[in-house]
Amino acid sequence: MNFFENLKDIYKKVSEVESIVYHNKQDYLEVYERNIQLEKEIEERTRELNIANKRMLTLQHIWDMMNASRPLQSVLETIVNNIQGELGYLHCNIIKKCEDEKGTYLSVLAQSDDPSIKRVNKLIKTPIQTRRLIYNEDSVYARAAEAKKIMQTTDIGGTLKSVIPETSDEIIDEVIHGSPSRSIITVPLYNRNSLFGWFDVFSSRKDLTEGETDFLTIFAQQIEMAITIAGLFEEVKAQAVTDPLTGLYNRRYFEEYLKKEVKRALRQKQPFSIIGLDLDHLKEINDKYGHAYGDLAIKTVAAVLKNNARAIDTAARMGGEEFNVILPGVESQGAMVAAERIRKALEDEELDTIGHITASIGVATFLEHSDNIEDILELTDQAMYSSKRNGRNRVTLAKPISETSWQEIAINTFTDILSRHNIPINQDLTEEIKNKLKNNENEIPKEVLYSVADTLTQSYNPLHHKGTVKSKVLLAVSLAKRFDLPKNDIDKLKIAMLLYDIGNLMLPRELLQKTAPLTEEERNHIKEHPIIAAREILQPISYVQDIIPIIEHHHENWDGTGYPSKIAREEIPMTSQIILIVDAYFALIEPRTYRAELTPKQAIEVIRQDAGKKWNTALVQEFISLIDYDI
Ligand code: GH3
Ligand code: MG
Repeated sequence: MNFFENLKDIYKKVSEVESIVYHNKQDYLEVYERNIQLEKEIEERTRELNIANKRMLTLQHIWDMMNASRPLQSVLETIVNNIQGELGYLHCNIIKKCEDEKGTYLSVLAQSDDPSIKRVNKLIKTPIQTRRLIYNEDSVYARAAEAKKIMQTTDIGGTLKSVIPETSDEIIDEVIHGSPSRSIITVPLYNRNSLFGWFDVFSSRKDLTEGETDFLTIFAQQIEMAITIAGLFEEVKAQAVTDPLTGLYNRRYFEEYLKKEVKRALRQKQPFSIIGLDLDHLKEINDKYGHAYGDLAIKTVAAVLKNNARAIDTAARMGGEEFNVILPGVESQGAMVAAERIRKALEDEELDTIGHITASIGVATFLEHSDNIEDILELTDQAMYSSKRNGRNRVTLAKPISETSWQEIAINTFTDILSRHNIPINQDLTEEIKNKLKNNENEIPKEVLYSVADTLTQSYNPLHHKGTVKSKVLLAVSLAKRFDLPKNDIDKLKIAMLLYDIGNLMLPRELLQKTAPLTEEERNHIKEHPIIAAREILQPISYVQDIIPIIEHHHENWDGTGYPSKIAREEIPMTSQIILIVDAYFALIEPRTYRAELTPKQAIEVIRQDAGKKWNTALVQEFISLIDYDI
């Protein structure tokens, strides 16, 4: 081979190598690009997996909660907060479709706790969750329910306006403008095939992806499951007849059984007795040794009741630390023996760590103390409270109402009212007063009553002076004696004096303490509402029924211009007339938010001017003679 051929050969080889290098480079670039592509894909898949994982965890969390049979409210709240917090929605609600006599409305059952809703609530003043929201046929809610599917709307202002129409356009504008929400997504919820309500989220986007729809649907299913489970749980609970802690019958069964027993007793003219028992100082046991020992005390009572009852006696746990036993065919003497046996047996038990426990017991007998079963239950309770007051760990036989002192009736009335939970006074104060009423072993019942009435009055009128109630009662009684009212009426007057203003507890505090002049409507509300409220509060308490008319008429005027019935002169019970004049006098000498107090002399002058109009002239004269108004 010559030189040129050699060179050619080398070139050829070089170009071959070049070509190989070139192709390898191409391959390499391709691989490189593919790698980048793959990496991107892996990243994307990992992100999706993370989201899916997060959703799974949230679902798992919700599922665990549902299994722990937490109350529905707390399950729903966790669901909305999980959705809002973790998955980027601004706000989330669960809304129930409700019906009442006024029609269909919406009520927010659970709401995520986030800055958006705080801001809205501040702007619209009354929080959404406490409102009765309007159900509008054109709203996104109605449309989603109609179509049975997820719906989205970008008209947030219109949706808000449809549920709270009274909100002004300016406020709606302010809500919309300051909010990053761009749409509301609504999912209808069903409970066993009928529409329950909606689940909605406020989204920062205007669109709704397919994945998002799937995701919201899964959550909606979880919510539906929680609602259905809670409903079933309630049904099962409602059918239960025994109490899980003690195995005794529960209140529901007791009440059913009692109805049958009453029928039987009336038919056979055979009495039966009720033993009512309340554990002493359970709160102390709980506080000192813990709730588990409190439960042990309750279980011990149940065991004692089971061991000491005849086969035909029925023992039930009425709730908390309260038990009742029905003794068919047993008159009061026999029931007292049985109750004493129970008391002794309980006292003899020796409990781990706690030592000895005791109970206060009351006994009443159907057909002996009364043939009205409501009265019998009430009397059992009163007898039990009487055991508490006299030192606990004892048995007391009920006294017929006619032999019950006015103080006992008043104490029981207050206790009864405070146990009903529909009076808006704070829990601590309620407990404090209840204890005062129970624990007055060394105190004079009258003084306890005056102090309780003072405390209750102060709770709605902070300007009320302590001690005034006592002065009012004494003055009213002196006046009643001047008119020779019988003892029975004077006793009723004493009770009425403690209770006549109890309806004020039901008035809104802002209204009672308003310094600005009241509108006509507000004045009428303040005038009439307390009387209606007092009647409602006292109506369920059988032994104060004859006090109600006295209270009801304590704003009637002598000339028929008062309220509520506009009766006049002798038609107005004397006791009501006395309350009116005593109340008016004390109101005048007390300060009010809108005026200063008057001196007794000035107050008497005001009263004297209305003699013959607002009050009977003879009453005014006697009243003035009782007041030492020169001081
Ligand atoms: P008294 O002698 O005046 O009846 O005092 P008391 O502490 O027993 O009564 P009070 O009504 O002040 O308190 C009752 C307490 O019983 C309060 C409540 O927490 C507790 N309690 C109610 N039910 C249960 C229960 O199932 N288990 C436990 N451990 N405590 C309960
Ligand atoms: Mg107790």
